[in-house]
Amino acid sequence: MGGSRFDLSGRVAVVTGGNGGIGLAIARGLAEAGAALAIVGRDESKNDAAARQLRDAGADVIASRADVTSEEGCSAFVDAALARFGTIDILVNNAGTNVRKRPEAYGLDEWRMLVDVNLTSVYLACMAAYPVLRRRGGKIVNIGSMTSIFGASFSAPYGAAKGGVVQLTKSLASAWASDGIQVNAILPGWIVTDLTIRGRAATPDLHEKVVARTPAGRWGEPDDIAGAAVFLASRAADFVTGTALPVDGGYAAQA
Ligand code: NDP
Repeated sequence: MGGSRFDLSGRVAVVTGGNGGIGLAIARGLAEAGAALAIVGRDESKNDAAARQLRDAGADVIASRADVTSEEGCSAFVDAALARFGTIDILVNNAGTNVRKRPEAYGLDEWRMLVDVNLTSVYLACMAAYPVLRRRGGKIVNIGSMTSIFGASFSAPYGAAKGGVVQLTKSLASAWASDGIQVNAILPGWIVTDLTIRGRAATPDLHEKVVARTPAGRWGEPDDIAGAAVFLASRAADFVTGTALPVDGGYAAQA
């Protein structure tokens, strides 16, 4: 028997926003499958705590302090991963944020910030990693959202950016298939993280609404996303590209 088609031993993965929430769960999943890791975030203490947690679980990991909304930040984490591990095989673009309010209540600065963090960052990270990924092929996994599919009256800039993530995923998948790079997206349903804890505080009945709207009848946990990320990062997904996979307890399937 050859190795498992999901085995990531010898692979190097970069996870933006890997210091907490969904990103840390994805990093844990990739490490359990054998990958070495570079996690990226702006907050040094969150970076250190997450790296320690991953290391304690046996992972080979570095943490890079970088802002994914700048070209310099993206070059910095690519350089740090190269300096430590010599290559990058997997890039998970997970960093993101949201500000919830009605569309007419945003200012232009907030619009730009939300598009920068949720969409432009994906473009910049992909461009920074491309010269490395194309050397021997690789995988890119972008994190979208249910707002990549559905409108949300309280998240217009975030939804516009997350819709853009899916379209960018398709374009990069088309352009880079000949380089042996597969580019896919995961669309998480409602997952319990710092991001949604803030949302729950702002919208008192959000918890019950999500439970009622989700066929699985519960919120997701960050770990619920890890298996799909491992699959899309692995040899098992060599012929899968340009897709957007909902991991949502059936949310997107139900009218
Ligand atoms: P968290 O707020 O828990 O994590 C966000 C992560 O992104 C943190 O690690 C944060 O690190 C990092 N980050 C944010 N801005 C930047 C930046 N400019 N540069 C570098 N890193 C940055 O949120 P989640 O885990 O919930 O979200 C992860 C992804 O999943 C996001 O893309 C989000 O949109 C998406 N998502 C989440 C859903 C949910 O229900 N939770 C549903 C659908 C999608 P630091 O602060 O240190 O920079």
